[in-house]
Amino acid sequence: MGNDGGGYGGWQMKYWRKPLDLDRVKIPHGEVRIIVDRCKGCGFCVEYCPKDVLALSDEFNRKGYHPPKAVRPGECVNCGLCEMICPDFAIFSVSLTSEDAAGAPVVVVSPGATS
Ligand code: SF4
Ligand code: SF4
Repeated sequence: MGNDGGGYGGWQMKYWRKPLDLDRVKIPHGEVRIIVDRCKGCGFCVEYCPKDVLALSDEFNRKGYHPPKAVRPGECVNCGLCEMICPDFAIFSVSLTSEDAAGAPVVVVSPGATS
C-alpha cells in the first residue's frame, strides 16, 4: 500500500482497492465538547486528531492556558481519540446523526459547568 502524501500533517491514506462495502459504510459524525477551564493547553488533542478538527485558540482559560477550539467542526468523526489522549479529561465528543451534523455548532462547555 502506498501513499503520495507529504508529511504527517497532510498525510492521506489511499485505498489500494475500493472496499467492497464502501457504499454501505456510514461515516460517523461527532461534535466535540471542550471543558475549557480543565485544559492545560498541552496540544495533544490538536496534534493527534486524525481529521485536524482542532487548533489551540487565542483565548485564555482561568488557568492562563490556551484551550483548543474546533476549526473544522463538520469533520469530526467521533473517534474519541481526543478524549482518550487528553490528560486532564477536558475534551470529549458526542455522536451526531448525519442530519444533526450539517452545520452543527461546536458547544464549548462554559466555565464552572464541569462538576
Ligand atoms: S473525536 Fe476524533 S475526529 Fe473528533 S475532534 Fe476528537 S480526535 Fe478529532
Ligand atoms: S489534550 Fe486536553 S489538556 Fe491538552 S490541549 Fe487538548 S483539551 Fe487541553
